[in-house]
Amino acid sequence: MPSRPKLVLVGQLSKFPWVFEAAERAGIDLILVPRGDDTMEAAARARAVVELLPLDVEGDPDGALSRLVARYRREPFGGIMAANEQAVPFTARAARELGLPGLSEEAAVAVRDKRSMRRHLLEAGLGTPGFVVLDDPDHWAEALSLRFPVVVKPVSGHASFGVIRVDSKDGLEPAVVRTWQLVEAHRGADDGLAAQTGVLVEEYLDGPEISAESLVYRGQVRVCAISWKGELTGPYFQETTLRAPAQLPAEILAATEAEVIGAHHAFGVTEGTTHTELRLVGGVRPVLLEMAARIGGGGYMAHFAHVAGGIDLAAEALRIHLGRAPRCWGQEAVPAGHVAVYQVPVGTGGRVERIHGLDSVRADPRVDYVVQTAGPGTRLPPFPDFAGYPVIVISRHGSDAEAEAYREHLARTLYVEYEDQG
Ligand code: ADP
Ligand code: CA
Repeated sequence: MPSRPKLVLVGQLSKFPWVFEAAERAGIDLILVPRGDDTMEAAARARAVVELLPLDVEGDPDGALSRLVARYRREPFGGIMAANEQAVPFTARAARELGLPGLSEEAAVAVRDKRSMRRHLLEAGLGTPGFVVLDDPDHWAEALSLRFPVVVKPVSGHASFGVIRVDSKDGLEPAVVRTWQLVEAHRGADDGLAAQTGVLVEEYLDGPEISAESLVYRGQVRVCAISWKGELTGPYFQETTLRAPAQLPAEILAATEAEVIGAHHAFGVTEGTTHTELRLVGGVRPVLLEMAARIGGGGYMAHFAHVAGGIDLAAEALRIHLGRAPRCWGQEAVPAGHVAVYQVPVGTGGRVERIHGLDSVRADPRVDYVVQTAGPGTRLPPFPDFAGYPVIVISRHGSDAEAEAYREHLARTLYVEYEDQG
């Protein structure tokens, strides 16, 4: 009997079950490189994990690579896949070194950096807002040439860390200084929020936000699901909710697919899976915010594609990283319903006293997953600093209207109460 395929999964937090469950469904064994903030006990218990391979991917990438190569020589594995933003360049480098399928290192660098994404889109003639790159906060006045409002952001953050909307020229300098300071405060931390210095200022794209989950195999892109994030107007952009499939006219969906496919080509992303965020300017014209060459939402965007797009995106991504053709290639997908996520906002921040409403969420038949990352005693800083979402709820519904009604219900009933700070 042929042995089961084995794949190295880099930096998947074990609390997030989606990719582990997909590996189990696909009959793939995982060698897990645990994330720095995970515990070995929890990582070892995750489904489909047959081995743990702790590597200091961020702090000592060269050492991590030689340990990985040594492990490969002892007994080869069939593939390697990145599960979070920081792991993307390391994984590309390791794949090349071992001759395994994956992103080219150039593409990995291109999608890790918002400056290079903007430059590549511009060169490819795709939609992009006006932007200015600042290498020094004292140079903030260079961005006065942009059309306001603008958005100030770190060049390689995630989860809206340090992202600030600025409406008038007077507000630019304080916002640049603030984002710069947040980046400096997180430099070198293993939260990956500030892998590089530098701040990007770009013109505000006015319109609702959507996301696209894609597979890409040998340069051919398939957009598997498009989700609706809705209006996020700032000044900070904590993302609390998403629903799929996005209820949009066919021509806007087609334009979005074209933009997303073009962006893969522009960045040279030819292998794996991606999470792309866009805004619909004026409600109609899709313009890229950014692309990540990994599954979005810590894995739950794969669940979105599975339910709302009818494609088992995480299992297919694992197959692509093993050098196999995705099963959905050439097949019509059969969507299975509407899916929604609600990420409990941090609010004012502070020390968590308790989280209201969890019991009824856990008992609700519409809820597929509840992932709790903070509990009593956890200290959560408010936006635009970042500590994650205290609770993530993923639910399934018969219609988009029901999904939206449930979100409103959760926004009223599920929230964090902080200890008295007086
Ligand atoms: P991150 O990597 O931190 O997620 P993004 O570039 O995706 O950074 O920005 C986070 C959020 O800020 C976006 O989801 C969007 O709501 C908002 N945003 C960022 N850039 C723009 C822009 N140019 N126009 C409008 N909104 C923006
Ligand atoms: Ca983003």
